[in-house]
Amino acid sequence: MAKRFFSPSPEKAIKTVCDGRLASYLSQPAIDEIIKAFRFAEQAHRGQTRRTGEHYIHHPIEVADTLAELKMDSRSIIAALLHDVIEDTPASKADIIEQFGDDVGLLVDGVSKIGQIKFDSKEQAEAENFRKMLLAMSEDVRVIIIKLADRLHNMRTLDVMRPDKQKRISRQTLDIYAPIAERLGLYHWSRELQDLCLRYLYPARHKAISNALAQREGNRKLVVEKLRKSLQETLSNASLEEFSVKGRRKTVYSIYKKMRKKRKSFEELHDIYGFRIIVPKPDDCYRVLGIIHNAYKPIPGRFADYIAIPKANGYQSLHTVVFGPLGGNIEVQIRTTEMDHIAEAGVAAHWVYKSESSTPESSTHLARQWLLDLLDPAQQSGNPVEFLEHLKTDLYPDEVYVFTPRGDIKKLPRGATALDFAYAVHSDVGTHCTGARINRELVSLPTQLHNGDSVEIITSKSSWPTAAWLKYAVTAKARTHIRNFLKNQTREDALKLGKRLLAAATKQRLFGRRRITKKNQAELLEQLGLDSWQQLLAEIGLGHRLPDMVARQIAMIKDQDLQPDQEVKLPALEIKGSEGLLLTYSRCCCPVPGDRIVGILTAGHGLVVHTTDCPNISELSKHPEKVLLIEWGEGLSQHFNAKLQVRLTHEAGAFAQVATIIAENESNITHVDMHDGPDNIRHLDFTIDVRDRVHLAAVLKGIRRQPSVVKVWRHKG
Ligand code: MN
Repeated sequence: MAKRFFSPSPEKAIKTVCDGRLASYLSQPAIDEIIKAFRFAEQAHRGQTRRTGEHYIHHPIEVADTLAELKMDSRSIIAALLHDVIEDTPASKADIIEQFGDDVGLLVDGVSKIGQIKFDSKEQAEAENFRKMLLAMSEDVRVIIIKLADRLHNMRTLDVMRPDKQKRISRQTLDIYAPIAERLGLYHWSRELQDLCLRYLYPARHKAISNALAQREGNRKLVVEKLRKSLQETLSNASLEEFSVKGRRKTVYSIYKKMRKKRKSFEELHDIYGFRIIVPKPDDCYRVLGIIHNAYKPIPGRFADYIAIPKANGYQSLHTVVFGPLGGNIEVQIRTTEMDHIAEAGVAAHWVYKSESSTPESSTHLARQWLLDLLDPAQQSGNPVEFLEHLKTDLYPDEVYVFTPRGDIKKLPRGATALDFAYAVHSDVGTHCTGARINRELVSLPTQLHNGDSVEIITSKSSWPTAAWLKYAVTAKARTHIRNFLKNQTREDALKLGKRLLAAATKQRLFGRRRITKKNQAELLEQLGLDSWQQLLAEIGLGHRLPDMVARQIAMIKDQDLQPDQEVKLPALEIKGSEGLLLTYSRCCCPVPGDRIVGILTAGHGLVVHTTDCPNISELSKHPEKVLLIEWGEGLSQHFNAKLQVRLTHEAGAFAQVATIIAENESNITHVDMHDGPDNIRHLDFTIDVRDRVHLAAVLKGIRRQPSVVKVWRHKG
């Protein structure tokens, strides 16, 4: 804290970072670009101060320096300097892209987006989902690494916050960010984050453990030093020249966790000493292992060779546990310098060791694979190279995480739409949904969801599923509910339609005594092998049985003469517009109210309405028993599709004129096809919706009047 009052000028601070860590691995042009980013950020944040009283720019500089420690690429360093610019200053993403390129723009935007998400941990599962969402949200894992460095610096300077804020931020860090750091292999960061969190969440316990650790530290140092010497001697005697031995110490948090898990006091915890031996070449690792196993007795079952078989994330090392020369067990890790860097820098190492030979894209790609692996441990295979090959075709995780209006997280499969989300909330919400708001913007139900979206569903009591919904519902839950609804609805519609069709047929076929008694019904059902009258009506409605045939059978049962065909005056079935799923309008001729129409009974689809002059009718009327005369009822309120063909001259704006005329006549274009014909004539095929023939005629008339229109007509068939 005290040193904050003497913090250097921003210029000096950035110079220290550039001349220090950055100069050790970046070229001068890269460093020049970083200084340019510093100036941009310094300008943007000017006038803003941190709670410590210093210029705000010191925070991004510290974040950049933390990344430099990992030897992150220059784009990440630039993005780190700019990471708070979009959220806290007037500068926009577009400004950043213009100055520093698309990739930096995406990185800064990604970090800002994570910052905007409001998260308060409620339960363990929620935290797990949130972690997954963060990982999945960031197509580029550098976004996460920058965010972690940002959080690390905020945690390091948390002292200046109010205690309640300290606790809230620490809780979030412990639940979300520390585990992510751990999973990315950034163990240094996760350990530091955990210790800091413990300090603010449980100050007393943190203090007690660190005091006890400090007391024991004296002892520990002696023991470790003795062991180190002993190891060193053993290795030197075996004429291994180049190596280093590091002791590892426990963190306050790891001891706190162990005490809780094992329900033991500090004194009861036996210290296990850990050493790491670093050598130049992989061969040396095995030599060292041989020497150690020769000198100290290995514990059976504790040896692991992650050099021959690396962990899926690329981690390589030899692990073994031996009985120490002073009693007690010693954990030993043996690895090369390069392996050690990968182990320490985790996912970030991919920007260092790959940067010489490969492009930034391929590093990103590799790191992305790393992430995928973390997201789905079930897919881990023994061979990481093979594993990466497998995943090349499918770069993205197969889940999306979105928010409900209350801030709960829902997990859906990738490709899921607003409709799927509606069913995920509740089946009733699904059944009655009409649209959605994604991030407060009004969208239609087929709209696909993205990670981090906040989704609100709009419902209406008078809205119901249609068969088209099956085209854009991907979750099993939504599809099952929609199918069941359609099935039940179809059955209801089939009953109603069947009843009307049979009534019309009996009226037509039977003399005077048209009433069908219970006894007649029972006899007919037995003949047909059906269980119930409802079933018979449904089968007629669905088009599986012809109403006229059933009427004849009833006549026979009643021992009644049939009305001779020629004397039958056909009463037309009236269309009311409320027939539901089993009355459809054919897509070939597109009948509209006012057209002369017939209904064709089609097995499984009920009644399909065609115009009497539809070219497809002649084929269909080879089965006259399937053709029913129908007519339009009064007061139909819905709109009907009609097809138009237009021939236009090639004039600028000609198409727009036609579209305008259609709109001015209160019609909508639902589909349009366009291609160029011979003689410089453009062909347009429209599908529009209209109320009836009169409405359609008005549209046609309007189009015909356009000077660019050569010809327009309604198309059937
Ligand atoms: Mn920040």
